Amino acid sequence: MTTSDTPSIQIPRDILPADGRFGCGPSKVRPIALDELASVATTYMGTSHRQPTVKQIVGSLRTGLAELFALPDGWEILLGNGGATFFWDAATFGLIVGRSQHLSFGEFSSKFAAAAASAPHLHEPVVITSEPGTHPQAVADPDVDAYALTQNETSTGVAMRLVRPDAEGLVLVDATSGAGGLEWDPSQVDVYYFSPQKCFSGDGGLWLAACSPAAITRIREIAAVGRWVPASLDLKIALDNSLQNQTYNTPALATLYILDRQVRWMLDHGGLAWAAGRSSTSAATLYGWAESRDFASPYVANPAERSNVVGTIDLDGVDAATVSKVLRTHGIVDTEAYRKLGRNQLRIGMFPAIDPEDVAQLTRSIDFVVDALAP
Ligand SMILES: *Cc1c(COP(=O)(O)O)cnc(C)c1O
Repeated sequence: MTTSDTPSIQIPRDILPADGRFGCGPSKVRPIALDELASVATTYMGTSHRQPTVKQIVGSLRTGLAELFALPDGWEILLGNGGATFFWDAATFGLIVGRSQHLSFGEFSSKFAAAAASAPHLHEPVVITSEPGTHPQAVADPDVDAYALTQNETSTGVAMRLVRPDAEGLVLVDATSGAGGLEWDPSQVDVYYFSPQKCFSGDGGLWLAACSPAAITRIREIAAVGRWVPASLDLKIALDNSLQNQTYNTPALATLYILDRQVRWMLDHGGLAWAAGRSSTSAATLYGWAESRDFASPYVANPAERSNVVGTIDLDGVDAATVSKVLRTHGIVDTEAYRKLGRNQLRIGMFPAIDPEDVAQLTRSIDFVVDALAP
């Protein structure tokens, strides 16, 4: 559709958010982080990733994340190129021995299940599904050596509390859109992996994984039995490089830098509890507003499963896509629903970098647009 299809509505300036980026990834990057990047334009950018200047940033990032997540002794932060999608493939080689169990409750969680199902060296995975807008629970299974959970299903706005099943296998958590904005307990998890472009307000293209001692042992054991693994997907190679604050091949230096700035920003303000608190304030505003309007309601029926970082709001009697378009003409972007979910819905990123006051302003702007669209 062209802009000529968008109704001409003028939202008053005083109810517009100061920053209009509400996308769920890539998400708002704090402008200051980019100013800081510009300040190292000639001393850091364009220098070797095998030299101390860059290795120090990788080291700072690794220790910063360990501090942010309060990782117990023996845990390590691994990183490599390619993002969470790439990590799924790496995990099918380097973390699953024979059979995995997957909780599949949306677009992203279903993709890791599909990756495991198509890996010729693995048995057929056990896939437990639930209706979109809900999440299933892991079930202890002696035939399974890895449980694949998703902390925050970005396509539906469902978040789950991470609980280790009463079983032997490793717990692998896709935390791509939860890490940095939702709290978690490392005792319940073995691998907590994510990309930087959601709660960490960075840029894409990188994967990071907090790995427990059991996960590191698993990576070493699989490498020792000599399973064929493409080098770029080899988690043992990623482990060896990460321990030296390097990546196997050349990383995007700007991405590393911006991510480190975001981790330091969180730590400087009080750490994960503070960052998650910002998202929880935003979520209380958004869901409270939706519940108080007769044209809006939270899509996720169970309040305990509603995400604090990705809010999905169903609209009734007003076309959500039109609302998003009008918002877009005011610089309020990426409020559209996840396309494949196919609902009359707005999806709002509430990552820690997003000012909770901007979420409040967004609700006022939506009120104004809905009122103006009313017949
Ligand atoms: C965005 C997202 C991914 C994919 O991340 P990429 O960096 O694009 O590979 C995977 N899982 C979840 C839950 C996500 O939100």
